[in-house]
Amino acid sequence: MSARPCNTPPCPCGSGQSLAACCGRYHGGEQWPDTAVALMRSRYSAYVLGDEAYLLASWHPDTRPAALNLADELPVKWLGLSVLDQQAGQPGDSHGTVSFVARYKVNGRALRLAETSRFVREAGRWCYLEGDVTA
Ligand SMILES: [Zn+2]
Repeated sequence: MSARPCNTPPCPCGSGQSLAACCGRYHGGEQWPDTAVALMRSRYSAYVLGDEAYLLASWHPDTRPAALNLADELPVKWLGLSVLDQQAGQPGDSHGTVSFVARYKVNGRALRLAETSRFVREAGRWCYLEGDVTA
């Protein structure tokens, strides 16, 4: 573990909070997101940070890949996340969907991913099930 600077960085998910107070506490395993949208935001931040262990841990076992190997893919510069819509996905629900747009750059080209992701809550934990790319 490296020491955290006293001026903590902002969370990549764009919440305006510090990483430690936002998605970082989920990545570190101190807490688990209690809503689907919080899990989705923490997964976006994990992509930005290259945290494959968290991405796999938050993926439903039925759809989880064996490995991600993000380092083998073209370098992606993540630019920002916009959550457009959410259905259910609250602490008492068993299913939820979140629609979002993530903007990023590959080889200097600006791209966007629009997806509606489906989440399920099993054994008290929200997991990412699958997503439909919408644009
Ligand atoms: Zn965050």
